[in-house]
Amino acid sequence: MDEIRIENLEIFAHHGVFPEEREKGQRFYVNAVLYTDLRPAGVRDELELSTDYGDVSLFLKEQLSGRTYHLIEAAAEAAAEAVLLRYPLVRALDLELRKPEAPIPMRFDFVSVKLHRAWHQAYIAFGSNLGDRQTYIDNGIKALKADFHNRVEKVSGILETKPYGGVEQGNFLNGVLKMDTLYTPHELLARLQELEREAGRERKVHWGPRTLDLDILLYDRLVCEDKDLILPHPDMQNRDFVLKPMAELAPWLRHPVLQKNMEQLLKEYLQRISC
Ligand code: AMP
Repeated sequence: MDEIRIENLEIFAHHGVFPEEREKGQRFYVNAVLYTDLRPAGVRDELELSTDYGDVSLFLKEQLSGRTYHLIEAAAEAAAEAVLLRYPLVRALDLELRKPEAPIPMRFDFVSVKLHRAWHQAYIAFGSNLGDRQTYIDNGIKALKADFHNRVEKVSGILETKPYGGVEQGNFLNGVLKMDTLYTPHELLARLQELEREAGRERKVHWGPRTLDLDILLYDRLVCEDKDLILPHPDMQNRDFVLKPMAELAPWLRHPVLQKNMEQLLKEYLQRISC
């Protein structure tokens, strides 16, 4: 991806663990790399098609001097998030915050923290088979949209499906949504579980009835596995109520492990169950 770079931007601010640092203030320097597509602005020569580096510099100054943090980690984290939220063409950024007058009793040039933060593309499966199913789903989607860490881009049509996993229970309404998110995978999982709890979900029976089920299917092209989270979702290729909406939203999207696109996975699944 193309880059816009801002180097050694001087900012006077009051970050520090020591009270005298927060009282007197000191100089900080910012290095920022904004990852964005510069092609449209490069071809058309129009500022509206790019991100104004002057505006970003003033915004960084405002963000970093407008509030006091104990840690440069916290100051940099907040500033990076604010830039990603404010400038829609910036997909990711590196932000380094340097502190040349840090309280270290030796000769040194500067201490710094450097972060890489980005929007990530996630596909979330949603389902409900208890109570007012459509309202539980609508409220879940509404809450994801209202959270400024997410930008919900597309929501699939809703399917009514028979329950999965052999437990006697009512039919499900299912679908998938595509969104950009600033959450890490585990933060996103925790947020989805919070929404499930808010919908009154109780985890009594594995694959049992639920007011709201929210699963992460894909998070960028990340492949990971630990005790809480497996990505891509380990069962997505075995569920038509996931593959049908995925084929609707992103037919050409390739599964990062199986190396087949959503349309192929759906076709293979339908062939498997017809045998
Ligand atoms: P479920 O009953 O389908 O909602 O399963 C939830 C459990 O699966 C939780 O304990 C999660 O920690 C775990 N899990 C593992 N991978 C995922 C994933 N990709 N999305 C959602 N839950 C996951």
